[in-house]
Amino acid sequence: MDTIAKRLEAIRAELLPGVSLVAVSKTKPVEMIFEAYQAGQRIFGENRAQEMAAKFSALPPDIEWHMIGHLQTNKVKYIAPFVSLIHSVDSEALLDVIQKEAQKHNRIIPCLIQVYIATEESKHGFLPEQVLPLLESSARNRFPNVAIHGLMGMASFTEDDQLIRRELAGLAKLYREAKATTGLELPVLSMGMSGDYRIAMEEGSTMVRIGSSIFGSRS
Ligand SMILES: *Cc1c(COP(=O)(O)O)cnc(C)c1O
Repeated sequence: MDTIAKRLEAIRAELLPGVSLVAVSKTKPVEMIFEAYQAGQRIFGENRAQEMAAKFSALPPDIEWHMIGHLQTNKVKYIAPFVSLIHSVDSEALLDVIQKEAQKHNRIIPCLIQVYIATEESKHGFLPEQVLPLLESSARNRFPNVAIHGLMGMASFTEDDQLIRRELAGLAKLYREAKATTGLELPVLSMGMSGDYRIAMEEGSTMVRIGSSIFGSRS
């Protein structure tokens, strides 16, 4: 079996120009994360607030911690002091709480709007038609301690590459439209996981979130 460093190297070699890599370390121990750190990785993704806070305390301070999973409003407080990017903003109620917690810590917290693009019921996110109005209210400074940096989405969990490509292309189209119409900078389009990051990059992703292809499968 390849080492974490070798797998990271192989994935980095495939990244298209301008695409950054979030190493998704959820459920994995700090030892494995430190191994990736020693191989040069600095951005890690987690999906549970308390797990992320514990890892933040245990690992070097120059790591950028990204929240990628559904975030309950009562958990924002655990990550507000240090989180670098919240990919998974899926409700206005959550944005309100992030705003309050960010203000408490005198921070501006970068966030992505999660868009529901899959055909499955289980995924979280705003409907595509809700995204532009939300970005416009943010552009009017409704959330002064939140910086919306772009959009995030997950394709259906399927073997059907055509379906995955259609869903990701739809998100990329919405992203381009949002950039063109809102006047916000929106540098980030977060899409692509171990199973579909190549398709995601072809469709215009600027940030891929890869877990099992780096750290092995999760039990
Ligand atoms: C777990 C997870 C990933 C990484 O999944 P892999 O298939 O292990 O690469 C990416 N994005 C989100 C939102 C996740 O929850």
